[in-house]
Parts: sequence; C-alpha cells; structure tokens
Amino acid sequence: MGLDDFADGISRAIEGAGGQVKAALFEPTIRLGVTGLSRSGKTVFITSLIANLLDNNRMPQLLAAAGGGIRAAYLQPQPDDTVPRFDYENHLAALVGPNPHWPQSTRAISQLRLSLKVQPTGILAGFGGPRTVHVDIVDYPGEWLLDLPLLDQSYARWSEIALALAALRQTVAAGWQALVGKTDPAAQFGEATAQALAKSYTAYLSAARDAGFSACAPGRFLMPGELAGSPALTFAPLPKPAKTRRGSLWREMERRYNAYKSQVVKPFFRDHFARIDRQVVLLDALGAIHAGPRAVEDMRGAMADILRCFRPGKNSWLSRITGRRCEKILFAATKADHLHHNQHPQLTAIMQAMLREAEDRAKFAGAATAAMSLAALRATVEETIDHNGAKLDCVRGVLNAGGKQAAFYPGTLPTDPHQLLRQGRNGAEKWLDADYQIMRFRPAKIALRPGFGPPHIRLDKAAEFLIGDRLR
Ligand code: GDP
Repeated sequence: MGLDDFADGISRAIEGAGGQVKAALFEPTIRLGVTGLSRSGKTVFITSLIANLLDNNRMPQLLAAAGGGIRAAYLQPQPDDTVPRFDYENHLAALVGPNPHWPQSTRAISQLRLSLKVQPTGILAGFGGPRTVHVDIVDYPGEWLLDLPLLDQSYARWSEIALALAALRQTVAAGWQALVGKTDPAAQFGEATAQALAKSYTAYLSAARDAGFSACAPGRFLMPGELAGSPALTFAPLPKPAKTRRGSLWREMERRYNAYKSQVVKPFFRDHFARIDRQVVLLDALGAIHAGPRAVEDMRGAMADILRCFRPGKNSWLSRITGRRCEKILFAATKADHLHHNQHPQLTAIMQAMLREAEDRAKFAGAATAAMSLAALRATVEETIDHNGAKLDCVRGVLNAGGKQAAFYPGTLPTDPHQLLRQGRNGAEKWLDADYQIMRFRPAKIALRPGFGPPHIRLDKAAEFLIGDRLR
C-alpha cells in the first residue's frame, strides 16, 4: 500500500468514525426490549407495533403520530450482525394475509431496526428540520430473564429452592420428584443418569408452564434457543448429600450448573439485556386468571423477579455492567380483545395492583413503570346477547379450532383487584365464587386501508409510554 493509499485509508476511517459520531449525536437510538414468557404475545405485539408505526393512522394516542410529527418510517438493516433479524414480513403476512393465522412464536432473541423521521413539535421545533430516531426492537424470551437470580445462588441453594417449589406443585412435579427420590446424589457420576434427570426436570418445567406457572428456571430448559440439545443444558437440581466427593453425581451437576451461569446466563445479560433503554414485559394475565389463583400468584412473583433484573443490588455483577440504563418499563396484559371493553378497566386494575405489589416485593425504584391492558391484534368484535333475560356483554370471533364463529363470555372480573390477588396469596386452589373461561380466536380477515396498520387495542398508548417522549 502506498503512502497516499494509507493516508486515504486514514481519512476514510476518520470520516467513517465521524459519521458514527454524528449518527450517535443527531440520530438517537432507542433500544426497546420486548419480553414476556412463552406465548405471552411478543411476536404479535412487535409485528403489529411495527406495522402501526409504518402506517400510523390507527395510533391516535401516540402523540407524535397524531400531530403529524412522524414524517416517515422505514425498516433498516439492523446494526448487530450476530443477532437474527425479527421476521417481520412473514409474521405480518400470517396475520393479515388471505388466510389469517397466528405467526410462529418467539424461540430466541431477534432484532429489527425501525427508523422514524420526526419533526420536533416541542421547544426544539424552531431549530431545524426533521431528524431521524432509530428504534431497535429486541425480542427475547422472558424465561431467560428469570435466570438472573441463579447468578447469586450456589448450586446447593438453587437445588434447595427448586425442590421446595416442586413440593408446592406436586400435580405436575410428581414424576421428577419420584426420580430424585430414587437417585443417590453421592453416587459416582454417570452421563445416562444426568440426562435422565435433566430430561425429567425439563418435562416437569414444561408441565408447570402449561399449568400456568411462571417461575420455571433455568429459562433455557424451556426456551433453549441455539442451545437445543446441547450438553450445557444437561443438569438438574439435587439434594446435597452429606459428602460431596469428587467425581460424584452431585459434584458434576454443580460444575455444569456453574458453567451454565458463566457461559449462557452472563453473556445474555452482558451483550443484550444491559443495553436496553426501554422495556415492555407482556403477560398473559387472562390465561393466568383462567388457570387459577396459584398461577396469578406465581405471575406476581415473576413480575417481582423481572423487576429485580432492572434494579439489581448495588454490588452485584449486573449492576456493574448496566449502571442505570433502562428508563421505562411497561407491564402489559395482552389479548384484551378476549374481554368486552367494559371489563378492560378491571383487567388494567389487576395489572396495576400486581405491579404495585411486585414493586414492593422487589423494593423497586428507578425506572418509570406503568401497567396496562392491550391487544396487539384485535381478533374479535363486541356483542351483547340475551341470556335467560339478562344482557351479557360478549366478544365474537372465529375460533382457532374448527374455524367457526362464536360469541364468548369469559366471566366477570372483580372491580376490586385485591379480591382476586388475596386468594392467590392465601394459596387457594380454585377461585372462590367465580369461574374464568378462555377461548382462542383466529386473527380476523381484514382489508387494510392505505395508511392503516392492523386493528389493536391501546397499542398506541403503550407506544406513547415507551417511546413517545423521544419522538417529540
Ligand atoms: P410469544 O411466544 O410471546 O411470541 O407469543 P405470540 O406473539 O406468538 O402469541 C401467542 C399466542 O397468543 C398467539 O398465537 C395467539 O393465539 C395469542 N395472541 C397473541 N396476541 C394476541 C392478541 O392481541 N389477541 C388475541 N386474541 N390473541 C393473541
């Protein structure tokens, strides 16, 4: 390389760096994390949010959109080359295509960059033309967040907690408990035993999740992402024997547990979680209410655990790498289109009460928090029917199974949310005086008008809380 080429290379490098500095200064980036347990509605939420930001006529409560401040919106190549791109186009085609169906759910982390050209309307309005704001949307399984407490727990302590939790969930844990009962943790390690224990523990976690329980760590057992079938996931809790000899089953399980923490949990928190500015946590609150008081109580515990991730103890490993980055956290109950709108305030009140209690439990302060109920894709219409002379406010939609139209009444949520939460706290098996039903609807066939995204409920309000302040 000649001197000129060399100098040219340097000046281009400086230009490039200058470009990046300029972009950082004048083109702010918001990293918006979207999480929630499996099937809480992350994929549908992100797809509908992007579609409704690209065509924002259905977003009146997002003030920048309503006031005409968003001049343009477009998708861009994402800046992180090692993270898969969120498959927006295919997910949208599933939801609004000629044969509407729900898209493939989140299995691992993915990301997408949406850029918005906004004309400031506040005090900066007079200082120049539109500017670009990048919104990097990061989709990741909530199960992975629930692994944070493991970082502060030894294998012995984690096992103790896991065994105690299983004792409260015998209906789903009995198989694994029986296998643990037959296993001698002090015996010589054998790969077949380790695999059988890990397999049985994973089956229990999966049944616990299906029964509506939220606390099901280690998160990668249910959501393995790229680690599916990997030896990093071949461990399980065991009671600590009196002697933990080298080469024993217990010692090897302990080693694998520690490797899982350092090679799987820490990199996720360091490389992805620590960089999030705004976070939405989606919760299938109606599904938990349908599953019963214990599932609701469990969800409240999971909310506290999630909040703890955003305000880890002062001296913890995570607080050293995150500082105080995440500014806003929204907890949103999804699928509110299963309820007639006159029950939405009750669902929102339940979310707000759960959040308040979770904040108390986690001693949370710092980021601004909010709770609401929404439907990222409205799949129903409302209808009032006569039922034995009484008027019932129902929703109507196309059933997922069979494809027939049906009207549905899920039950009446109490106006005092504590009436519901108390029963969970007291360990009730079933709701005292109520029954809550659930039904799965298909996305409705829609013809999108130009400028309009898919129909939703309060997605605009969620967007206003999460990013609205940065678009004005
Ligand atoms: P993920 O696992 O968090 O990515 O969850 P998905 O976004 O794939 O949603 C899981 C399921 O919840 C979907 O297949 C739908 O059955 C249902 N769902 C999600 N969002 C909505 C919504 O806004 N309305 C209705 N009626 N159902 C929804």
